[in-house]
Amino acid sequence: MSNKGSNINPESFRDSLGTVLEDGKRNWIYPKKVSGKFYRWRSYLSWVLLAILFIGPFIKIDGRPYMLFNIFERKFIIFGAAFWPQDTHILIFLLLIFFIFIILFTAVFGRVFCGWACPQTLFMEMVFRKIEYLIEGDASQQRKLNAMPWNSEKLWKKGLKMSVFLLISLLISHTVMAYLIGIDQVVEIVSQPPSAHISGFIGLMAFTGIFLFVFSWFREQACIVVCPYGRLQGVLLDANSINVTYDHVRGEPRGMIRKNKVEELPKGDCIDCTLCVQVCPTGIDIRNGVQMECVNCTACIDVCDEVMEKVDRPKGLIRYASDNSVLKQTQKLVTSRVKVYTLLLVILTGAFITLLATRDDLSATVTKFRGMTYQERDTGEISNFYEVSFINKTFKDQLIELRPEDPTYKIEVVGDQNWTLESQSKFDGRFFLVKEQEDVKTNQDKVVLLLLQNGEIIDKIKTNFIAPIR
Ligand code: SF4
Ligand code: SF4
Repeated sequence: MSNKGSNINPESFRDSLGTVLEDGKRNWIYPKKVSGKFYRWRSYLSWVLLAILFIGPFIKIDGRPYMLFNIFERKFIIFGAAFWPQDTHILIFLLLIFFIFIILFTAVFGRVFCGWACPQTLFMEMVFRKIEYLIEGDASQQRKLNAMPWNSEKLWKKGLKMSVFLLISLLISHTVMAYLIGIDQVVEIVSQPPSAHISGFIGLMAFTGIFLFVFSWFREQACIVVCPYGRLQGVLLDANSINVTYDHVRGEPRGMIRKNKVEELPKGDCIDCTLCVQVCPTGIDIRNGVQMECVNCTACIDVCDEVMEKVDRPKGLIRYASDNSVLKQTQKLVTSRVKVYTLLLVILTGAFITLLATRDDLSATVTKFRGMTYQERDTGEISNFYEVSFINKTFKDQLIELRPEDPTYKIEVVGDQNWTLESQSKFDGRFFLVKEQEDVKTNQDKVVLLLLQNGEIIDKIKTNFIAPIR
């Protein structure tokens, strides 16, 4: 599009990255400050999302976190509902739902998520970039500052910027940690000397270092090189997906406006001011078409609308549109792909809700003690030794009991006789299953154990009982 009529390969822009120079070095991007309708709305949304993110760890229900992703203890609380390792299958459904939703959303609305809600873009463009503009000025001033020798101005500006970046990175790392281990734990770590919580302290410092590195140096590379979602765009998008798109039908052939000159050729609406390239945080030219590097940040829409207003041409030369709506003036939102994804999403959501509604609040696993068969007692009884593991997924203490369904069996608990499980806890116990020798009819009997929660039967557990036949 951009190279129509020239000898240059119109696809040549695909052979290089805007952020890499010909000699392989990093081409540092200095995006020009932007303002406009979309930027304003993105700013408002970012305040809401950032507030939710930072307030999240403080939200508790009956003293427990509303959200917790404790990967270390494999314990998760999502919207107040607790999930244990035994609920992994339910979490897998939740993850699948999330992925299918993202795929469906991307097929219809392109990378809207990247520009409006991705934490990387939110922090980069709405927090760190704004601070950079505030301290170092707009793109041209930043270039000038970076080219300067290390004088007092450069020293204090860079020093101030990095200090503020460090403080924000600390804030983010503590918040992330609070989502992982809970806010109470984080408060404990920060209120005691590092030696008291060495692993927690190292974790916090590591996260801070990573965030500082990403937002002060790595920046757009996270979206271009690391993010797998960006890589998937090629297969997720089609000609009907809505993206930040340059209307090449309207815009080409592009050409600068020269005052008091009669145009020899009919010109498109693009005046080739290159402002859309100058504001782009990933250093691309949207006029080359949809590209993997575009994070749909809408900066080019805002700046181009401003240009169109100045040259008295209709806004929207760059806008949210699909390839089909630009080329054929048609927009089909509900394609066969979208229908299939929607159906899949409905099925998965149904399965997830069913699993969630039918899952046990309390579970018990009974296993025979390894290496032992049976014991013959002087009393004429035969016993088998078992281990039991209880998990209380509820937020209340529960009194647990195991009782054999067959009254010829009895249970003898070893050790602590009080099987009261605290809320959200796991308990391992041991017990003997005992039967009179004279009642033994087979050397391997199937036994049903009733699991009672606060006196009520909630489950039946099957196990084996081994005994000699006399
Ligand atoms: S900002 Fe608009 S007019 Fe200027 S180069 Fe980009 S597309 Fe063309
Ligand atoms: S092309 Fe436009 S929307 Fe895409 S990243 Fe660059 S400025 Fe943002």
